[in-house]
Amino acid sequence: MGKVIYPGSFDPVTYGHLDIIKRSASMFEEVVVGVLSNSAKNPLFSLEERTEMIVEAVKDYDNVTVINFDGLLIDFMKKQDISVIVRGLRAVTDFEYELQIAQSNRKISKDTIDTVFLTTSIEYAYLSSSIVKEYARYGTDVSEFVPEYVAFKLKEKYKLM
Ligand code: ADP
Repeated sequence: MGKVIYPGSFDPVTYGHLDIIKRSASMFEEVVVGVLSNSAKNPLFSLEERTEMIVEAVKDYDNVTVINFDGLLIDFMKKQDISVIVRGLRAVTDFEYELQIAQSNRKISKDTIDTVFLTTSIEYAYLSSSIVKEYARYGTDVSEFVPEYVAFKLKEKYKLM
């Protein structure tokens, strides 16, 4: 189980995501952060911006790479020769959705793909990209929730500079 993928929209990346990346990086040989381009959500940041913010945040980890992808996660995983997905679980509200996705991924991959869940660190349990965007939009300081560069990009996006 050397190489794993941590997929998501990361719109934008938060300290909650980075906590999962850091912990995965110490557990697995290689972590690919997969940035979803065809998210059903209407993202605030473009695929390039979302990717760039993660690249900047993980630059000190040798075994983490950031790749964006289109289409079905399991097709991308086959191409990359990855069979394990890492996802973060914050609260019971995440559970039902995550369970459904994990089980359907197993089914359509004919049991060749599995999902590993890491429970969120307590200090980030409440944190989501949506909450960060909501605060940033009204000019609230979000430096406790996201790296400095991301806070800067949020200000720029909401024309608060
Ligand atoms: P999605 O993949 O649903 O678009 P995100 O990009 O926000 O959502 O999240 C990607 C993954 O990171 C998901 O597994 C999500 O549960 C997890 N995650 C999001 N915020 C946190 C957090 N604060 N702590 C731990 N895991 C988180």
